[in-house]
Amino acid sequence: MTDLNIIAATDTPLPALPFTGRHLIGGDWVDSDDGATFERHSPAHGTLVSRSAQGGQAETDAAIAAARAAFDAGVWSRISGKDRATMLLRVADLIEANVDEIAVWETLESGKPISQSRGEVGGAADLWRYAASLARTLKGDSHNTLGEDMLGVILKEPIGVVSIITPWNFPFWILSQKLPFALAAGCTCVIKPSEMTPTTTVRMGELLVEAGLPAGVVNIVLGHGLPVGARLSDHPEVDMVTFTGSTAVGKTISASAAGTLKKVALELGGKNPQVIFPDADLDGAADAVTFGVYFNAGECCNSSSRILVHEDIAEAFVEKVVALSRRVAFGDPMDPRTQVGAIVTPEHNAKIDGYVRQAEAAGAKICLGGGALTVPGMDGQFYQPTVVAGVTPDMPIARDEVFGPVLSVLTFRTLDEALAIVNGATYGLSAGIWSDNMHTCLDFARRAQAGTIWTNTWMDGFPEMTFGGMKQSGQGREIGSYGLEEFLEIKTLAMRIGKTRAAWVR
Ligand code: NAD
Repeated sequence: MTDLNIIAATDTPLPALPFTGRHLIGGDWVDSDDGATFERHSPAHGTLVSRSAQGGQAETDAAIAAARAAFDAGVWSRISGKDRATMLLRVADLIEANVDEIAVWETLESGKPISQSRGEVGGAADLWRYAASLARTLKGDSHNTLGEDMLGVILKEPIGVVSIITPWNFPFWILSQKLPFALAAGCTCVIKPSEMTPTTTVRMGELLVEAGLPAGVVNIVLGHGLPVGARLSDHPEVDMVTFTGSTAVGKTISASAAGTLKKVALELGGKNPQVIFPDADLDGAADAVTFGVYFNAGECCNSSSRILVHEDIAEAFVEKVVALSRRVAFGDPMDPRTQVGAIVTPEHNAKIDGYVRQAEAAGAKICLGGGALTVPGMDGQFYQPTVVAGVTPDMPIARDEVFGPVLSVLTFRTLDEALAIVNGATYGLSAGIWSDNMHTCLDFARRAQAGTIWTNTWMDGFPEMTFGGMKQSGQGREIGSYGLEEFLEIKTLAMRIGKTRAAWVR
């Protein structure tokens, strides 16, 4: 461990702790009826960060009723796109004005590095701006060739009340992949953030109130999957659930939503491969692989936690990645130099280690790391940068989401062989190809079963570029213009002009 780049505890001043989180229901900040609360401690520092109201069915039902009433009153659903856009742009400005402060809460609750939290919160403002542009350009369709006396109009209307359920790994960003798009469409919402990271969602609620969003348009219920998330999924007054989280919970939500046949959009797990051919820019690929596996400590749906390297270059490529891994700064997430912070819970750290031990026992070779990381002066949990070679496609470390800073290295000989491994996964979120041969890249891109294919790059994202998974990585799409379409209902208007309809009764 001595040859790793470790950032010891800093004495960065922290805000007054703990943050007190309340539900936002119908424009009011409220505690739970029974006064129940839950706490979140920093995964890096061990200190108490937030104490939040713990919602139950009563709070969830009240929030849904508030969203329903606001939708039906038309205070948001029936205003112009221009007015919606004005509000979304105001929120974007407020986010930008509060980046540093919100980023601290994101880091304290999730354990991610402060530089990354600032990027996440600042970048979210751009999602709000992009959604504002969609609010103004949203349009339906018309048909004027149905016959001289007919006019057909296709209207796009807001779907109604939307439940938004989010995970802990990118709380502010993922909320911003959903909320501004739902609002641009004219929907009203009830949000349930992860119980691990509630605070930045509460801060978002405060910004919405400050911006002047009408009461009831956005409501927030804090608490656990059971009962809050489950109620948001099966309630008959909810028209759609948009969920980001694990595949297991996604399936539960789908089943709960089936009772009322409400629409479900799911962004779930991934096991995302980068495939490296010998003719690629190997230094660039090694850097992208290092980024892909350690970004957000590997606690990322897009983590490239497995790579497939052509067997002619596998040994040399692994050496490059190991050398780069030693230089990545792991440690106190409050230090701006840190690139990889803490692991979300002690249980999760143990789960990561379990995958590594299992692979080792099955014959894989640990080339770097492979154990918990001690960071001087820190009380939380960390994991070492870890590279595991000699992994075979059947090992759990090659198939499951490890969700830690652990890279699995597999090898291949031909494109067909690589594609068979890539497409053998139950997931289909993203995949990458590294080659200087355009034909190899395009062939891979067309045949790989994944919602996003990165070619000679990794994890570049843009608000314009839609995102989502195939197979058990999800259903539906987020961001881009398709991200708005998810929140729309389509209505067909067939209109006869004049009294030209032929009588049916003779
Ligand atoms: P999780 O599924 O455990 O929890 C996500 C949310 O669901 C939380 O708010 C949780 O309280 C809630 N929940 C739990 N049980 C529920 C139930 N029965 N009904 C309704 N809601 C319930 O996921 P997590 O551990 O917070 O996040 C990590 C997972 O999220 C990983 O699998 C990761 O790949 C995935 N993820 C996917 C994307 C994507 O865009 N595809 C992005 C980020 C994270």
